[in-house]
Amino acid sequence: MLQLEHVSAAYQGGFRLQDICFETQEGRMTGIIGPNGSGKSTLLKAICRDIPAQGSVRIQGRNLWEMSVAERARTVAIVPQDIEKLPVPVLDFVMMGRTPFKKWHQLFYSDADKASAMEKLQQVGLSGSLDGRDPALRTLDQLSGGERQLAAIARALCQEPRLLLLDEPTANLDLAHQISVLQAVAKAASDVRMDTLLVIHDINLASAFCHNLLCLSEGKVAAAGGTSEVLKKDLLEKVYGTGLCIGRHPLNGRSLVLPEV
Ligand code: ADP
Ligand code: MG
Repeated sequence: MLQLEHVSAAYQGGFRLQDICFETQEGRMTGIIGPNGSGKSTLLKAICRDIPAQGSVRIQGRNLWEMSVAERARTVAIVPQDIEKLPVPVLDFVMMGRTPFKKWHQLFYSDADKASAMEKLQQVGLSGSLDGRDPALRTLDQLSGGERQLAAIARALCQEPRLLLLDEPTANLDLAHQISVLQAVAKAASDVRMDTLLVIHDINLASAFCHNLLCLSEGKVAAAGGTSEVLKKDLLEKVYGTGLCIGRHPLNGRSLVLPEV
């Protein structure tokens, strides 16, 4: 279980993330929604202390910020919004997820690390989209934005973290990959009881995959709780500043958020 207590952070430009409190359920996906600039990416950066932050972040009762760098690397994986176009073979990039588990005297990755990387590439659906080309030869800078995002997700899964943070993981993906990636993440989350926090703009995908939602507005919590409790017309219209219509999915009854026009 992930517990955030009074997490705050500020940038020099004036934006402040203020007093964020919430907790997630183990093995479940929590979506972070909210308008552009509401502080979603800042919250993920604050959780992994990429920026100075106050408050506390506990994972299974342990303070994440008090862990050593090595232990933190074994505990949290983050998939950022923009993945660098490195001239690194895709397989090596994905295997980097195993780095925190290498012994100090181990120079190379093991066969098990390689097998795990291949499995994760398959899980996110990337091995198929490389047109049969060997991920050991194809480099990251030769991939499309969407394929790079899949590689970064595979790397994070390879890390087998207790907490997985994803910043708009489906932003560059087509519909089939959006669904398959979220299914792969949801399965990994429940199989290994990994807490997953994902920033997601598509509210209907959030509704389909997330058990809980945290809605941010101007750096503060506008709402938090079960997905259907958060996806309320009045709240979303106020937060997003636009007319909306809330419907129901014809097959599973989950909330659907549609533009009023
Ligand atoms: P989003 O919800 O779209 O992910 P962000 O968390 O990226 O929003 O940004 C929140 C606010 O903080 C925005 O107004 C953004 O301009 C500002 N901001 C983001 N990064 C920095 C930075 N490094 N320095 C100063 N201001 C920043
Ligand atoms: Mg962002």
